[in-house]
Amino acid sequence: MTDIKPKLRPARRPPEPQPAVADSSSPYSNVRPPNRKPPPPVPPPRPDLLHRTSSEHGADVTSSTPKEKVGHMNRQSSFPEVYRPKPPTPTRNRDSLSEESAYQSIRDSSIHQSFYQLDDSSTDSDYHIYAHGPIPEQNPTPAKQRPGRLPPELPKSVENRSPRTPTSPASYVQSSPRAPPNSLIEPPPIAVEEDDETEDWITVQHSFQPFISKPEDAKKAASSMAREGYLTVSKSRIPSEKIWVKYDSKTLKCYDNEEKNKLLDIVPVSEMKSAEIKSDNAKSGFKFVLDTFPEQYNFKTGTFEDVQLWVMALTSGIIKETRRVEELTGGNMENPTKAGYLKRSGGKKLFMVIKDQYICCYHNQQDYLDNKVLRRIDSKTSSVRIQDRAKYKLILSLCDKELKLQAENEEDMLAWISTIQGAIKIALQNLDDGGSLPAMEVKKYIYHNSSNRICADCLSRDPEWAVINLGITICEKCAGFHRKISTDFSKVKSITLDSKWTPARIKLFQEIGNKNSNKFFQYAITQYDKINPNVNDVQRLEFIKSKYVKKEFYQFSKFKGDAKGLGEALCEVVKTDNILETLNLLLSGADVKYVSTEGFSPIQSAILHDQPLQVELLQAHYDDLGGEMLNPGKLSSVKLPPSSEIIKQGYLDKKGPQTYDRFLKRYFVLTPKELIYHKDASVAGRISVSSITDVSVQGNCEIVISTQQRSYTCRASNAEEAREWVEAITWKIKVFEVPIEHQDTADGIPYVVDTCIRFIAEYGLQEEGIYRKSGRNNMVEQLRKAFNADAANVVIDPEVYSVHDVASTLKKYFRTLPESIFTQRRSDSIICTYSINSKSEKIEALKGFLDDLPEVNYRTCRYLIKHLVSVSEHYRINLMSVDNLALVFTPTLFRLQHSNEEMAIGEVDIALGSLHDIIAEHEVLFRKFDDTLSSKEMLPRKFFSELSLKVKQRTL
Ligand SMILES: [Zn+2]
Repeated sequence: MTDIKPKLRPARRPPEPQPAVADSSSPYSNVRPPNRKPPPPVPPPRPDLLHRTSSEHGADVTSSTPKEKVGHMNRQSSFPEVYRPKPPTPTRNRDSLSEESAYQSIRDSSIHQSFYQLDDSSTDSDYHIYAHGPIPEQNPTPAKQRPGRLPPELPKSVENRSPRTPTSPASYVQSSPRAPPNSLIEPPPIAVEEDDETEDWITVQHSFQPFISKPEDAKKAASSMAREGYLTVSKSRIPSEKIWVKYDSKTLKCYDNEEKNKLLDIVPVSEMKSAEIKSDNAKSGFKFVLDTFPEQYNFKTGTFEDVQLWVMALTSGIIKETRRVEELTGGNMENPTKAGYLKRSGGKKLFMVIKDQYICCYHNQQDYLDNKVLRRIDSKTSSVRIQDRAKYKLILSLCDKELKLQAENEEDMLAWISTIQGAIKIALQNLDDGGSLPAMEVKKYIYHNSSNRICADCLSRDPEWAVINLGITICEKCAGFHRKISTDFSKVKSITLDSKWTPARIKLFQEIGNKNSNKFFQYAITQYDKINPNVNDVQRLEFIKSKYVKKEFYQFSKFKGDAKGLGEALCEVVKTDNILETLNLLLSGADVKYVSTEGFSPIQSAILHDQPLQVELLQAHYDDLGGEMLNPGKLSSVKLPPSSEIIKQGYLDKKGPQTYDRFLKRYFVLTPKELIYHKDASVAGRISVSSITDVSVQGNCEIVISTQQRSYTCRASNAEEAREWVEAITWKIKVFEVPIEHQDTADGIPYVVDTCIRFIAEYGLQEEGIYRKSGRNNMVEQLRKAFNADAANVVIDPEVYSVHDVASTLKKYFRTLPESIFTQRRSDSIICTYSINSKSEKIEALKGFLDDLPEVNYRTCRYLIKHLVSVSEHYRINLMSVDNLALVFTPTLFRLQHSNEEMAIGEVDIALGSLHDIIAEHEVLFRKFDDTLSSKEMLPRKFFSELSLKVKQRTL
C-alpha cells in the first residue's frame, strides 16, 4: 500500500486555462461575466467555469451586436457537450494539458460546428444529457433547446422552431445507439465483475443515473423536481411580465403563455447559480430570485407553497449539475483521507483516493496528481463489504457495478472498508441539499400545515419545537419530556433557534404534520387517554411515554415484526412520494439501514429515485445509528439488558488503551450498574459505574471516562451526543449537581438527604445555631466527594465530622440541585401564595402546588420540612426558631431569579414568608402519600447510634 502523505504532494494543478479557439473577439466571450461560482454546498470550483473565466479577459460586456446573439446561441449549443463523458481510453497529452483542459479544447472548438449542425442527427454525446437525469419529456425539442437564450428581438426564429414541429429529425434518446429508450425504464442489471479488466465501469460517469423499475415511477421521479406554471417576472429583459415557465430539471424555459407559442427565454441549469426565497408574505408578495450566469430573475407567484416548490426544484437541479461537472473532473481531492493502490480482479491496479464523501479512481498515482480521474464515485450510492477475508478482498458496490478489489493485507483491507464506510456516513450526513432558511421565518413555513399550529400532544397553541424524525410540532412543555425519552424515539429541535432548517426539512413538516402523524400515533386513543395543555408533569410524561415509546395507541404497519417485509417495503416506498407510508414503516420497526435485494439501503434508493423528501425523512431516522454498516444484522443478535434498565445506548468509537491505538466502533449500553460495550454481537468489555471516578468531554466530541485503573477515550459522532453521554454517566456516578429525579433514592428520598438528616437528628438537634453556622470547607468537600462516589453507602463518623459539616453538606446539596426542590415552575407559584390574605385559601393554594410536585420532590420536601420542624422544636436550646430556619433555608430551597438587588431583597422576604408558612403548616400541607409514608421516615431516631460510624473512604 502506498499511502500518500499530503504534504509530500506537489501543488495541485488546476485545470489549465485553454486559450479559446475563438479569439477574444469571439462573440461567445463577449457575453460571459467572469464571476460564476458553483452553488455554495459544493465547494470546489468547476473547472469548466474556471476555464471560461480565464478566457474572457478583455471581453466587451456591453456589446450587443448581432454577433453577440449568435454567441448566445453558440454557447447554448455547446450545452450538451458539458456532459460529454470521457471516452473509456482517452488519449492524453501528458506533456502540456490536463485531460480536462484537453476536453475543454475539444468542447470549444466544436462550438461553432455544433451550432451549425443543429438539425443533423444527434451525436453520441447527446444521449448523455438524458441518460443521467430523469426521463425526458415525451417530445424533446432539441431544436428549441439549442437556440439558447434568444433575445426578444428574435422571436420569429423561435416561432419558426415551434415545439410541435421539431426540426430535429430525432430526439436525443432515440438517436442514441447506446441508450435505447427501454434502457431508461428497465433497471439495468447490476453487473458483477467477473475476472475481467474491462473498463465499462468507467464509462458510466454519473452516480445519479436513475434506474427505474416501472414507467409510472419513471414519470414520477422525473416530475418530482420538474415544475411549470405562470410566474410574474420583474426587472428582466423578458418583454412581458406574466409568463409561463417550464422547468424540467435541465432547463428553465419561459413562454408567453401556457400554449407555449412563443419561447421568450431559456436558461439551462448549467448557467444557474442559486435560487432563493426572497419574500414570503402576501403583503410584499411571494417572491424568489433565480441567480444565473449573466443575470438575475425576480419571480413572483401566488402562494408561498409555490415559491418553495420552485426554489427546491431549482436548487436541486443546480446542485446536481455541479456534481455532474465534478464527476467529470474529479473535483478537489487534495489532502485525502486515504489513498493507495488496490488490485482489481484481473490483476491491474487502481489508484484509489478517498476524501470526504468522494472516492476517485485513477490509473495510477501520477494520474491522480494530474487530475486524470477515471471515475468519481459519490459514496452515498455505494456500499462496501468483505468478499474474502483470507485473501483481503472487498467488494465496492456502485449504483451500476460491483468492483472487486484486493488489498495488500488484512489490516489494509479493513482500513479501506472503514474509510469507505466513513465516506458513506459523511455522504449521508451531508445530504442537506437546500441552503438553510432564516430561523425566524421557519415557523411561518411550518405553520402552512395548519395542524402544526397546535401541539401534537397536548394541543397547546403556537408550538415552537419540532420532532424532526416524526415531522410534528410540540409545545415547550412537551418538548421537555420528549427530550427525556431517548432520541431513538424523538429528536427534538427548536423551530426558532435551530439553524438547520432546509427547504426539504420544512417541506417534510408540511407533508407530515401533526394531523397525519397522529393518525398513526393516536389511532387507538380514547378521549380518556388524551391530555390538555394544563395537565401536570407526571401525566404529561406518562402520556408521551405511552404514545411514543410504548406506542400504545399506534396503528402499526401490517409488516410489523417481519424485518425483511418491513425492509423491502421501505426500500420500495421510498421510490415514491408516499412519505406517510415511509414514516409508518419506520415507526413499525423497519430498519433504516436495511439493504434490499437490489443491493441498496432505503436512503440510497430514495436518492436514486430523486425523492428528496424521502431522503430527508430517512436521514432524520438515520443520524444516531452510527456507521455500523459492515454487519447490519449483527446487532440484533446482541443480548442487551432489559430495556427498562438501559439508560442510554448507541455507537461510540472507542480507542484502545495504548496511545497509538486506533478508534474502533463499539456499541455502548449504560445501565444503572455498568457501562457495557459490544463488538459485533459479543460483549467486549464492562466498566462498573461505581468504579468510574470521572467523566468529561474533551475537545469537541471525545469522551474521557476515568476509573482508578485506567481511562477510556471514546468519540461520539457530534458534540451534542458526547455531552449526552457525559451527562448520563455523570448522573449515575454523582449525586451533587444532578437533577433530583436522577438520584438513587431510599424510599423516594435521595441517599444524601436521608443520611445527612439522620445524622443531624441524632447529633445536632441540640446544637446551638445548627444550620446557621457553617461547617469546615474541607470537611464539606470530603463529604461531597464521598456522596458522589457511593451515596448509598456513606456512613458519617461523628468523631470526624461535626454536625455543622453535615448541615452545610445538606444545604450545599439542595443549593446545587440544577432546579429548585420546588421545581422552577412551582417555585414562583409557591412564593406568590404569601400574598394571599385568607389563611384557608393560602393553605389550599400551597397544598395544591406542593401536591403537584413530582413524587421524589414531594417526598424529599416533606422529609426535610418535618426535620426542620423537629429542629425548631428545640429552639430554646439550639436557638433555631421557625423564623430562623426559614431565613437560612430560603436561598437554599428557592431559586430567586432577579439579579437586580432590590427586587431580590423583596423576593427573599416573600419567599421567606412562604417557607415559614410551609414549616408552620406542615401537618395540613403534606397529606399526600400518607398511607405509604416511607419506612425511613418512620424509623426511630435511635437508628444512627446503632451503626458503625465510619466514613467509607472511597476515591476521596
Ligand atoms: Zn404540548
